[in-house]
Order: sequence, then C-alpha cells, then structure tokens
Amino acid sequence: MVFDWLNTFHQNIAKDPDYAQKTLAAYRLGMKAKGSILGVVVQVAPDCCEAVRELPPNRIYHPDQAPMLPLPTCSRGRHCSCVYRPVMSYQSK
Ligand SMILES: [Zn+2]
Repeated sequence: MVFDWLNTFHQNIAKDPDYAQKTLAAYRLGMKAKGSILGVVVQVAPDCCEAVRELPPNRIYHPDQAPMLPLPTCSRGRHCSCVYRPVMSYQSK
C-alpha cells in the first residue's frame, strides 16, 4: 500500500505543528488531480487519547471538514499517534 510509509513515519515522531494542514492540503490536491481519493479517515492509534475515540468511527471526511489532528483535547498533544489515512475510490465498499 503506497501510503504505508507515511503512516509509519508519522507514528514515530512528534507531529509538526502544521501536520494537519499540510497533510490535508496534500490530500485535497490528490482529490483534484486524479479523483481517486475520496476523502480521509482518522485512523485512531490503539494507545491514543480518549478525545479521538469520540469521533464517529470510519467516517470519511472531505479534507476541508476533517477534524484537526492532533485534536485540541488530545492528552498526548503533538505525540498523538492518530493519523489521517486517505480513502481511495477503489477501496470503498
Ligand atoms: Zn490523540
């Protein structure tokens, strides 16, 4: 899976302050360019905060509407390991 390296990368380091903006901007571009990205999901890290668990599970967001990660209420702040994953059109059920 093409995006696996991204995922691993983000789980091992503290997030940039502009992680959400940069990542969502990249997916937004991807949506425009090819139309194969339907949107993003928030992938909750197994050991992460309560805050993110309250998001609706498996909800697909448009990058413009996705919640900012890390969530303002995340107890781990920039060490939050929750990440965005793109949803590709060929993956949707
Ligand atoms: Zn978190």
